[in-house]
Amino acid sequence: IELKKQFPLNTPILEIEMARVCAVNGISFHIDEGETLGLVGESGSGKTTTGKLILKLIEPSSGKILFEGRDISNIHDREFRRMRRDIQVIFQNPYASLDPKMTIGDILTQPLSIHKIISPLEYKKECVRLLNMVGLSAKDAKKFSHEFSGGQRQRIGIARAIATKPKFIVCDEPVSALDVSIQSQILNLMMELKREFKLSYLFIAHGLNVIKHVSDRVAVMYLGKIVEIGPVDHVFSSPKHPYTKALMSASPIPDPDVKRERIRLKDEIPSPLNIPSGCSFHTRCQYCMDVCKYKEPQLSTENGHSVACHLFEVTLEHSQI
Ligand code: SF4
Repeated sequence: IELKKQFPLNTPILEIEMARVCAVNGISFHIDEGETLGLVGESGSGKTTTGKLILKLIEPSSGKILFEGRDISNIHDREFRRMRRDIQVIFQNPYASLDPKMTIGDILTQPLSIHKIISPLEYKKECVRLLNMVGLSAKDAKKFSHEFSGGQRQRIGIARAIATKPKFIVCDEPVSALDVSIQSQILNLMMELKREFKLSYLFIAHGLNVIKHVSDRVAVMYLGKIVEIGPVDHVFSSPKHPYTKALMSASPIPDPDVKRERIRLKDEIPSPLNIPSGCSFHTRCQYCMDVCKYKEPQLSTENGHSVACHLFEVTLEHSQI
């Protein structure tokens, strides 16, 4: 409560404004307290790079990342390590993200000891509490990661991430390495924890159904830029950008009676090292106009739903006449 007083009421938990950095080509978004922003796009769209920038695994050359109003893009590594108590990560691969030589109890104790969260006398009790919270039991603390299934390992990864009582978690494709039958259990667990602890998530995925299930808002990335961002219900019920429409048309529909025409994109996604001029999507867009080849569209916003497409700008202008 004390901490919250230091920030104006409406300060988002995270704001990011980046110029060109690696696979990210100028993006700007915010995430509010208790909110999940889903970040979706093909491989090479820059979504994983965005997560790495926030975690300072990649140094931004320009731009800023504000966490609770404070710029963390240029702070010293030692200071950022202290802030990692509040900013955690859940990795994609539960098979690679847990040290096979450590017991689960030691894995969960590590962040408690690094950040001096509680006294060493309380470690055992806290490990049991964390294991119970993610649906595992006290006896699992003595085991090693190879004794668990993929879903159980991801539960342990989640327990490790919440051990420090963070405010914000980067979730980097946390269910894509798991069987579909296990995915919903892990997603439901993450949503329960979010509600209980008022967590904010940046949820990176390329499965649209997963994004729809967990997000409050969704941002669609293409070649390092956000091309559409808005409330998840708006974007899914009324996608505006031709790239978002194509992605959605390729996403499986759970109801076999609902038919949807697949929009097939021309060519492969261009290399991030050779981004097309104007609208970077113009080489694959069936609606491409002359202007699209030389003029880059900027995000235009209506009712909190923003789209970077010249077609949307025209529609918006007409609706305002
Ligand atoms: Fe297609 Fe032009 Fe819109 Fe780009 S700006 S998505 S090329 S219509």
